[in-house]
Amino acid sequence: MSLLNVEEITASYGASQALFGVSLTVAPGEVVALMGRNGMGKTTTIRCICRMLPVQSGTIAFDGQVLNRMPSHRAAQLGIGLVPEGRRCFANLTVAENLLAAARSGHWTFDTVSGLFPRLAERRHQSAASLSGGEQQMLAIGRALMTNPRLLILDEATEGLAPIVRQEIWAAVSRLKAETALAILVVDKSLKELRAVADRAVIVQRGEQVWSGAMDALTDDLTDRYLGV
Ligand code: ATP
Repeated sequence: MSLLNVEEITASYGASQALFGVSLTVAPGEVVALMGRNGMGKTTTIRCICRMLPVQSGTIAFDGQVLNRMPSHRAAQLGIGLVPEGRRCFANLTVAENLLAAARSGHWTFDTVSGLFPRLAERRHQSAASLSGGEQQMLAIGRALMTNPRLLILDEATEGLAPIVRQEIWAAVSRLKAETALAILVVDKSLKELRAVADRAVIVQRGEQVWSGAMDALTDDLTDRYLGV
């Protein structure tokens, strides 16, 4: 059964409508890729799920509870962990302080997050500002995990990172999939890596869902049509 159930949502920025009907589900243990070219509505969909943008119509339900009018901090408390685009951390706090500031009780602690990303333990006393881009991304994922979410949302987590660091991030996502019951929703442009880790994909185009299905049903024809440049 799905943990997150988004049905036909619409949303606007002021007078400009950005979503015209997006639906998706994510079940525990499942990785779902939300795909589409630039500016098609992926981040907007995530903002709606995390309650940072009002939903005009349609329904967002999490574990059977309708979130449409819930404030974002309540959605986070329910178990939605967001790794936002741009890997926001507290620049002046140390790695350990960043992680501990996000902590809620559960499996994910400083030690278990360090097991996933050993570099965070090595850098525990350094300020977040002094980390490399890849390390900051690990810290952003670690912060989201420290809230002990049931749904983890990764928005462009590998963007702008060196190939070797991207591989580390993907390896961590694969481990989360294999070793936990987290539901994972991922927005990323790395088609090859998404093919390896995601179970299903949802494609949006100009704010509308145009395709959804199993990852292995996503043919080259479809990627050319909806994701090609
Ligand atoms: P990208 O890969 O470039 O991040 P995206 O698929 O995540 O793209 P969105 O950021 O969701 O796309 O943008 C969807 C539409 O909403 C675009 O037309 C964009 O210009 C518009 N939009 C996004 N954020 C805002 C905002 N804060 N104010 C007004 N319009 C916005």
